[in-house]
Amino acid sequence: MRYLLISDLHGNQEALDSVLLDARGQYEHIVCCGDLVGYGPDPNRIVEWARTSLLAVIRGNHDRACCGLEDLEWFNPIAQEASRWTMARLSAENLDWLRSLRRGPITVDGFSVAHGSPLDEDEYIASLSDAANVFDYLDKPLTFFGHTHLQGGFMWANGRREAVLRPHRTEYEILLHIKPDALYLINPGSTGQPRDSDPRAAYALFDSETQEILLRRVPYDYDAVRQKIERAGLPPALGQRLAFGR
Ligand code: ZN
Repeated sequence: MRYLLISDLHGNQEALDSVLLDARGQYEHIVCCGDLVGYGPDPNRIVEWARTSLLAVIRGNHDRACCGLEDLEWFNPIAQEASRWTMARLSAENLDWLRSLRRGPITVDGFSVAHGSPLDEDEYIASLSDAANVFDYLDKPLTFFGHTHLQGGFMWANGRREAVLRPHRTEYEILLHIKPDALYLINPGSTGQPRDSDPRAAYALFDSETQEILLRRVPYDYDAVRQKIERAGLPPALGQRLAFGR
């Protein structure tokens, strides 16, 4: 089976549209590592798409915050403002659907799906040392996660730990062959608000037959999203950062 993996969409419809167009015909199912909403100007469109299009999805911290399941005091002022804006605009049906999302990790076709760490949905796995604390506890060889908005990940094989690279700014994709007897923590990257200094929307494809992962980046019209964010009255910094991928 071939899977499209996406994460951290954050209400960015233009970025999602670019990913779906780019990956068209190359997967059977879509799996999401959370944070469908928060920050971006199109939360209802993204949730309505998610409700009918995803094989599996778990909640992210912004999904919880935007449907009232999380105390906003843990967020910085800009994230708080965006969460309040999003909550006020989400339809009752979409709020109910967000509240019903499961906590990660979940298992899909033998792999794990988490938002933050498989041990704690709010924990960031951003470095090799963060990953080292998790490898001992993994019960599946392959975990997809999000939350950091950094594409790439970490692997463990024969007692050695290594980072899994993302495509360089001049590259479209990186192909990763999954080795037997190794452990992988893979972040497909953020579709809607990348923070790894590459403004292109991120996603991954996983083929469970060939055990291959493609980490990809695809351009989208982030300036159109910036304009939407400003017209919507969301904090302008949320639109400006998209051009820098930060
Ligand atoms: Zn996020």
